[in-house]
Amino acid sequence: MEEKKDFGDLEREVIEAGKCALCGGCVATCRLLDYGYLGVDFSEERPVIREGQQCPSDCGYCYYQCPRVEKPELREGLEEIYEVVSTDEEIRKVCQDGGAVTSLLASALADAIVEGCITVADKGEWKPEVRVAMNKLGLIKSAGSKYTPAATLTGIADAILKYDLWSVALVGTPCQMAAYEKMLVVGRDTHNAHNFSSNVRLRIGLFCKGAYSYDKLMKEYLERKRGINISEITKLNISEDVLHVYAGDNELLSAEIDEIEDYKRDGCKVCEDFSGLFSDISVGNVGTPAGKSSVIIHTDFGKEVFESALQWGFIEAKPIDNSGADLIHRLMKEKKEAGIAEKERRMSKKKLMEQQRQ
Ligand code: SF4
Ligand code: SF4
Ligand code: SF4
Repeated sequence: MEEKKDFGDLEREVIEAGKCALCGGCVATCRLLDYGYLGVDFSEERPVIREGQQCPSDCGYCYYQCPRVEKPELREGLEEIYEVVSTDEEIRKVCQDGGAVTSLLASALADAIVEGCITVADKGEWKPEVRVAMNKLGLIKSAGSKYTPAATLTGIADAILKYDLWSVALVGTPCQMAAYEKMLVVGRDTHNAHNFSSNVRLRIGLFCKGAYSYDKLMKEYLERKRGINISEITKLNISEDVLHVYAGDNELLSAEIDEIEDYKRDGCKVCEDFSGLFSDISVGNVGTPAGKSSVIIHTDFGKEVFESALQWGFIEAKPIDNSGADLIHRLMKEKKEAGIAEKERRMSKKKLMEQQRQ
C-alpha cells in the first residue's frame, strides 16, 4: 500500500519547491483546524504548522487537497462572454472597471442565493484580509483588486465556524477556484472539506496574470523605490500590462508590469489558468472598454445567477465583441503555455542538478 503523505510532503513538494499559490486550501481543510494547527505566516507568505506540533500519523488531508500536488480535472461547461457594467453608481465609483463582481454578489445576496460572500478587503496599508461580507456596505469595503496573496479559502472555515453561514459565495483567483474544486472532488472523505463542499454555492473567479509578494510590491517597489505613501493609495489596477496606482482621482503611478515581474510569487510562475476555469462565473478587465467588465459564464448555475442580476437590474450586459473574446482567449493560451514552459524549465534544472550530484 502506498504510504500516506502529510504536511511534511506538502512542504517539500509544493511550498519549498516554489509552487504554492497561497490559496489557503490546506489550512481550511486541516484535520486539526479547530486547534489552529496549520496557519498562514504572512511575513513568509506560506502555510506553517504551529511550532512544536506534529501531525497525526494517519492524516494528510492538506496534501491531498492541494491543487498544486495534482490539478483537479476540468469538467465540460459553458463559455458565454459578456461586456457588463453595474447599474449602481456607488459601486461603479469604488470598484474595478464595471463593478460586475460586486453587483453580481449584491444580487446573489438580495436574491437569497447566498447568505454571505467571502472576499478580500484592505486591512490597512493594502494588506489583504479575508472577510465575509453580508451586505452591500461589506461588499463595497472589499471592492477592488489587491494583487498580493490572501489565502482566501480560509474564509470558508470562517463563514461556517464564526458566522454560522451555510450558503456562501467565494470570490478569488483561478488558483483558489481550483483549490475549491479539489475540495469538492477529493474532500469527501475529510471532515472539514466534506462540510465545506456543500457550503460554497457560488464561485466567482477573477482573471489573474499573477500575484506579487506584499513586501516586495508594496514596501520595496511602491514605498521605497517609487516613494509612494502606501496609506494614501485608494486603488491599484493592472490593465493592459500597466500598473496604475491612484489616490482618489490623482494617478500616482503608471508603470509597465515588466518592472515588477521579479516581485511575482514563484507559485504564480507555474500557473496555467488566466480566467478561472473552475468558477461558475469569471470576471476581469481585459477585452472590454475602460469602465466595463468582461464576464465569462462557465456553468448553468452561473448563468442563473447572471440572468437574475440582469432581471433585477443590478447589471447591464451585452455579448462581448469578437476582438474582446479573441484577446481573452489569447491571454488564456499565453498563460497556459508560460506555466507549462516554466514547469518544464524547473524540471530540467532539477534533473541537471541531480545528475551533477551523482
Ligand atoms: S497551494 Fe494552497 S493548498 Fe497548496 S500548499 Fe499552497 S496554500 Fe496550501
Ligand atoms: S491536515 Fe493533517 S497532515 Fe495536514 S497539517 Fe493538518 S494535521 Fe497535519
Ligand atoms: S497567477 Fe495563478 S497562482 Fe498566482 S494568484 Fe493568479 S491564479 Fe493564483
